[in-house]
Amino acid sequence: MKVEMNLAETNEAFPLIFQIFFFCFGACVGSFLNVCIFRIPAGKSIVSPPSHCACGKPIAWYDNIPILAWFFLRGRARCCGSRISFRYPLVETLTALVFLGMWCLLPPVPALAGMFFASLMIFCAFVDIDTMTLPDFATVGGTLLGFLISLLLPGFHGIEVEGAPYFVSMISSAVTSAVGIAVGSGIVYWIRLLGECVFGREAMGEGDVILAGCIGAFCGWQGAVFAVFGGSVIGAFLLLPILAAAKLFGKKRSRKNKKISDGEDFGDSAVVPFGPWLALGAILYYMFLSDFVDAYFANFALAIF
Ligand SMILES: [Zn+2]
Repeated sequence: MKVEMNLAETNEAFPLIFQIFFFCFGACVGSFLNVCIFRIPAGKSIVSPPSHCACGKPIAWYDNIPILAWFFLRGRARCCGSRISFRYPLVETLTALVFLGMWCLLPPVPALAGMFFASLMIFCAFVDIDTMTLPDFATVGGTLLGFLISLLLPGFHGIEVEGAPYFVSMISSAVTSAVGIAVGSGIVYWIRLLGECVFGREAMGEGDVILAGCIGAFCGWQGAVFAVFGGSVIGAFLLLPILAAAKLFGKKRSRKNKKISDGEDFGDSAVVPFGPWLALGAILYYMFLSDFVDAYFANFALAIF
């Protein structure tokens, strides 16, 4: 209570100071996530060696400033002029905006937990895009951490059992998290089994099952259900035009220039990772949609029973 008072006072004395701080903090975390996304799947250390260019030269601190450096350098390395992927400032800006949004939209405890959760989701999404796999340490570890945070900080799920000792709130919050884990992983597990029976191939991996469980641990069962179905719908809306454009563009290109192989364009067998859509749905639920989605499920239940 006292902490929140102080936060409010500081905010009044220095307008926007927290917003600016969390935006910059998010950009730095995004920069660290870039390192993790590239190095961890390759089995490299995330601490040493320090940031270096593809040509091997070390990168000076001023060329490593999150978001800004890429634009100063116009996307080219200072040492050798090789192209720097637009992915770097993209991940940094995305993380910065998510951190800012969490701080502006949520109370302090859920906001801080949400920043951690969103970082985990962004990491998983981009690793899944690159490698089509989700590392167990992130998904299993994230699930355990989500459960632990729920148990220790019941306010995180907005649970406060009035007039009862604190441990009642703790247990209630832990149960919310456990139900989320079971429902999230359960749904994806069954979709995966059904997909295998109907289409005869794996539509989702084991990693997606655990990732959905991890989302449930942080967001409860409503969040997990939304991430699976909402994420798929958003994914389809965003992806279909891109796939269609890639296909048209790809065909034109291969007609003009036969050297470009079929592997370059998205064929019918294009495999799309599911993790990024789960992650997107989860972050949207956590930041904006939880009240709306929870109310929808509550009305839905009322209509049935
Ligand atoms: Zn270089």
